[in-house]
Amino acid sequence: MTKTQTTLAIEGGVPVRNQRLPYGRQSITQQDVDAVVATLKSEWLTTGPKVDDFEQAIARRVGVRHAVVVSSGTAALHAAAHAVALAPGDEVIVPAITFVATANCALYEGATPVFADVNPDTLLIDPDSVEALITPRTKAVIGVDYAGQPCDYARLRELARQVNATVIADASHGLGGNAGNTPIGVLADLTTFSFHPVKHAATGEGGAITTDDDALAQRMRVFRNHGITSDHRTREAKGAWLYDMVSLGMNYRLSDIQCALGISQLARLEANVARRQEIAARYDHAFAGEDAIRPLVTRENVHHAYHLYVVRFLRGHLRVNRNTIMAALRAEGIGVNLHYRPVYLHPYYRDLGFIPGLCPKAEAVYEEIVTLPLFPTMNEQDVSDVITAVKKVLEIYRV
Ligand SMILES: *Cc1c(COP(=O)(O)O)cnc(C)c1O
Repeated sequence: MTKTQTTLAIEGGVPVRNQRLPYGRQSITQQDVDAVVATLKSEWLTTGPKVDDFEQAIARRVGVRHAVVVSSGTAALHAAAHAVALAPGDEVIVPAITFVATANCALYEGATPVFADVNPDTLLIDPDSVEALITPRTKAVIGVDYAGQPCDYARLRELARQVNATVIADASHGLGGNAGNTPIGVLADLTTFSFHPVKHAATGEGGAITTDDDALAQRMRVFRNHGITSDHRTREAKGAWLYDMVSLGMNYRLSDIQCALGISQLARLEANVARRQEIAARYDHAFAGEDAIRPLVTRENVHHAYHLYVVRFLRGHLRVNRNTIMAALRAEGIGVNLHYRPVYLHPYYRDLGFIPGLCPKAEAVYEEIVTLPLFPTMNEQDVSDVITAVKKVLEIYRV
C-alpha cells in the first residue's frame, strides 16, 4: 500500500471490511441460554434463590462481605448515593470524563456534583484535582475505573478521610481488574458494577454494589425494594404477610431470570478478561511505532480489565480533527466509539450553570480520544482489520 494508491473509503475507496465491526458485543453461550430457560421453568422469576446465588458469586469473586444486585449500573450508583445519606447542599466529587450516570446519582439525591479534572494519560480522576476541590461539604468522592483500570484509591481514601467523606468506585468498566493483588470491588467503601451487554458480564440490564460495610449494604437492600424491610420470599418462608416501609425506596430489583444469566456469565469472566488483554497487547504492539497516536497508559502494578481500548489521535500530528477520523474509520467498517464527552458540557448540565473551561485537561483530551473495538469474541482477522484501518487513516491524515 503506497500513499498514492490508498484511497480512504470515506473518499470513495474500498473499505477495509464490508460489515461493520462493533466496538463491543456480548457473548452468549448455550450454557447461558440453558440457565435462563431453567429459571423460566422454576418457581421464582424474581426475588428468588438466583438473586442470593448471584450475590454470593459476585462477593466470592471480589472477596467482599456484601454484594447487592440491582436493576442497572445506574441503579447501583443511585443506591450507593442513597446509602451515604446525601442531603441538599452536600457535594459529590466526580471525574469530568465519565458516563453521565456517575454525576446524575448525586442529583437524584439532591446533592451537587463537583467535577474534578482527569489525568490525560489514563483518563482517571486526578487526585490533585480532588484535593483542590475537597471541602467539609464533600460527602462522597466517586472514582471511575475508566476503561477497566482502578483509580488511585489509596490517595482518594486518604483525602476523603480528612473530611469524613465516603469513597465510591464506579467500576462499571472494572469487573475482573486488580490493583496489585487486590480486586476491584474492595478498593473503595462502595463499588458499583454494570451488567449492560457491552460490560464484563451481561444480564441484559443489571448492576451490583459491593461493600464490607454491613449498615450500608442493609440500606441498599431496603432501598432497592421500595424502602420495605423484608422481601416477598422471606415473608413466605415465615408465613407472614405484614411488612414495614421505613424509608422512600425504589423498585430496583434484579430478576431471577437475569441473575441466572449473570451467574453463568461470571463463570467466564477470567477467560474473557484474558482475551481482552491479549487483543489490547496486539494493539499496543501494532501502534508502538506510530507517533501520531498514543494509547492510554496503564498504571503500574495494575491488572487491567480492558472494558475499552482508547487511543488519542494527537492533534499536532494530524491534518484533520477527531470527528473526521472517527467518520473515516467507520467508513472503513470499524465501529469506533467515543467515551466520553465531559459530563458538564451536556445541555442539561449547561442549563444547571456549568461552563466550558471547568476542567481544561479533560476538555483537551476529549478532542483526541477514540475507542477501538474490543470484545472477547473478536477473531484475529477482526483485530487485524482494526489495525489496518487505523494505519490507513494515519497514512492519509498524518501531517
Ligand atoms: C455503563 C456505565 C454506567 C451505567 O450502567 P448501566 O448499567 O448502563 O445503567 C455508569 N457508569 C459508567 C462509567 C458506565 O460505563
